[in-house]
Amino acid sequence: MSRAEKKVIIIGAGPAGLFAALQLIEAGIQPIVLERGKDVKSRRRDLAAMNKEGIVNPESNYCFGEGGAGTYSDGKLYTRSNKRGDIDRILNLFVRFGAEEKILYEAHPHIGTNKLPKIITAMREEIIASGGKVLFDHKVTDFVITDNILKGVITQDGTTIEAEAAILATGHSARDIFHLLHQKKILIEAKPFALGVRAEHPQALIDKAQYKCDSRGEYLPPASYSLVQQVNNIGVFSFCMCPGA
Ligand SMILES: Cc1cc2nc3c(=O)[nH]c(=O)nc-3n(C[C@H](O)[C@H](O)[C@H](O)COP(=O)(O)OP(=O)(O)OC[C@H]3O[C@@H](n4cnc5c(N)ncnc54)[C@H](O)[C@@H]3O)c2cc1C
Repeated sequence: MSRAEKKVIIIGAGPAGLFAALQLIEAGIQPIVLERGKDVKSRRRDLAAMNKEGIVNPESNYCFGEGGAGTYSDGKLYTRSNKRGDIDRILNLFVRFGAEEKILYEAHPHIGTNKLPKIITAMREEIIASGGKVLFDHKVTDFVITDNILKGVITQDGTTIEAEAAILATGHSARDIFHLLHQKKILIEAKPFALGVRAEHPQALIDKAQYKCDSRGEYLPPASYSLVQQVNNIGVFSFCMCPGA
């Protein structure tokens, strides 16, 4: 069987699922991406309904839908793991799909929530143009396993989609998937995690602390900061900082 005939399913169209799809395409495999939520544009309407009217769509919200969890939260692009993986390759891919070139050289690249939907859409279009499929409103609810070998997945309407392999890219919010894996006795391991809070300060206060002057003037950009401290052998750090205006 050629690679192109291999049926691979990716469950979830967040960053992990989308980049896995692009990687498979590079390797000559055309994946089917199954996403429980809606496409990135339609998702925006559900977020508006949530913020304005308090109506929560359990399948389309800040965590679920094309683009995944971070898409509509702040659109920053930040990683502290600069020793693992080829970060430049990922940044270049973002630029190819429409991000500004400055993310290639800035110390704290920031894509921007307003720009992400177009970038995510361009990624999906490339997956489809390369022979892959992206199916929305396709929530995976079960796995078909025979003799310990995955044969496919079942979606919420009872449809079975056969596959020789599946990449589970359902993120940290899909509790139902954790329960399913546990129930099916599929090995699942807890990762260490960091707990964070959001702190907001007036930009003028940060400017004053960083530039050591009362006003930063017209030529200096809004200042940023990074905080790192050890408390009882536990690292406390600022994950990302979004300078204001
Ligand atoms: C509020 C918030 C703010 C964040 N801000 C930043 C930031 O500024 N910078 C940063 O780098 N990171 C940020 N992150 C973290 C970042 O969003 C995650 O690291 C990233 O989204 C993880 O990607 P993922 O693809 O593994 O999972 P997710 O993004 O969670 O994507 C999983 C996808 O799978 C789909 N899915 C789930 N279950 C099923 C199912 N059963 N069937 C089909 N599809 C399914 C979901 O709908 C979703 O689209 C933020 C996260 C949150 C929640």
